Amino acid sequence: MAKDFILALDQGTTSSRSIVFDGAGRIVANVSEPFEQIYPKPGWVEHDPEAIWRTQLATAHAAIAKAGIRASDIAALGVTNQRETTVAWDRATGQPLYNAIVWQCRRTTEICDELKAEGLSDEVRCRTGLVIDAYFSGTKMKWILDNVPGAREKAARGELCFGTIDSWLLFKLTGVHATDYSNASRTMLYNIHDLDWDDAILDRLGVPRETLPAVKASSGVFGATTLFGDEIPVAALCGDQQSALFGQTAFAPYESKNTYGTGCFVLMNTGTLPVGSQHGLLTTIAWGLDGKVEYALEGSVFIGGAVIQWLRDELRLIATAAESETVAAQVPDTGGVHVVPAFVGLGAPYWDMHARGLITGLTRGSNRAHIVRAALESIAFQSADVIQSMQSDTGARIPRLRVDGGASANNLLMQRQADLLGIPVVRGQTIETTALGAAFLAGLAVGFWPSQESLTGIWREDRVFLPTIGDAERMADLQKWQEAIKRARL
Ligand code: ADP
Repeated sequence: MAKDFILALDQGTTSSRSIVFDGAGRIVANVSEPFEQIYPKPGWVEHDPEAIWRTQLATAHAAIAKAGIRASDIAALGVTNQRETTVAWDRATGQPLYNAIVWQCRRTTEICDELKAEGLSDEVRCRTGLVIDAYFSGTKMKWILDNVPGAREKAARGELCFGTIDSWLLFKLTGVHATDYSNASRTMLYNIHDLDWDDAILDRLGVPRETLPAVKASSGVFGATTLFGDEIPVAALCGDQQSALFGQTAFAPYESKNTYGTGCFVLMNTGTLPVGSQHGLLTTIAWGLDGKVEYALEGSVFIGGAVIQWLRDELRLIATAAESETVAAQVPDTGGVHVVPAFVGLGAPYWDMHARGLITGLTRGSNRAHIVRAALESIAFQSADVIQSMQSDTGARIPRLRVDGGASANNLLMQRQADLLGIPVVRGQTIETTALGAAFLAGLAVGFWPSQESLTGIWREDRVFLPTIGDAERMADLQKWQEAIKRARL
């Protein structure tokens, strides 16, 4: 029987999604379901691992039904997931010991401060590619071992499994305890050069190696599931941002993507070379595929699409996010106005937690459209800062920027991005790039698609935005943005 479909599970921070793709990379069925966010204390964020599993399983069943297919029609299943979020469970029963500690959770900030005070920042950065931060999984595991009754004893008896969400889902699907390089590289426990858990960091955090999953290629058969009927190979695991890079077919060195969501996530493929950053960017594993590991540089903008939510919900200058485009288009430029949305400080390349937001350049003639346009442009300026840092770190010029995420629908924003970068901005037809990446990786593993080149043929462009301003104007615009940034930091 022909196996004409790939099933991608996209386990996100606020919802679980399952998508059935066909051989042309088209979406046949797409079902998502939100689940509860748990905030036990200020700054703490948890998810119920059983709720994650329940919604993921339900959406997968629903997507298969909606597509009108059966398990026997599915060549492979791929998983992509919210990264860093950490689950601990009992190896024999599969029972979680505690809620999943979500990437956003700040409860391990003090542990991180101690590590920094011990002077471990450089060592951790060299080995893991990451900055010491509560964001990553390692200190969350330490917290569970130190605070969940019985966890350490269970670990000592070899009965405890730690994992990121990919591992948790794989365990529920197949009973196998494994992860992939891209997810392992977000734990702050994984040596991205040796491709092994780092004993020195494991010792310092008291995390026993036996609790950790086996680390494998992102594209490859991890196990098989019969939960949907006939056996389906689980043939890919990949963290969401890296999966989006793959879904954008950014396979060659320096190909880059930006996902414009609440925040923006920029990833640049650096090929088989892990590039250390001088600008506070993260070095991460993009994926393991065909017997080799490829790396990426990653930088994020804290307030991306969120500045548009702020215009809508707090300033009430627009009624919908999409209206930001029509309002901004009422004026030819911002009239010298800049919005710096440093609401929670500034990320790369500034790393200034004390910076705060401001609107500069106001005159008697400044109106609503100028402010809306400036807020929209701030997303492009901040992204340009991150991309500029990547270009400095690699000494390479990126050929084009591939874009996805909710705010990439905004044509004015995309045009401004192309102008500020001086390179083409390319938007694909598939919005679900993250899931597409997992589908691609799973399909490659089982020969559903013959090669990466064949995927490049499948990927379809929606629109290309070419730069319309010259270098001199671009430099002048970036200079004025820098002046606004300077004021936000005073
Ligand atoms: P997330 O996955 O982070 O929830 P999405 O990819 O769904 O984000 O994108 C939603 C974000 O994009 C919101 O912050 C919203 O303000 C912004 N957004 C959505 N549509 C537009 C638009 N047409 N123009 C500008 N911003 C938009």
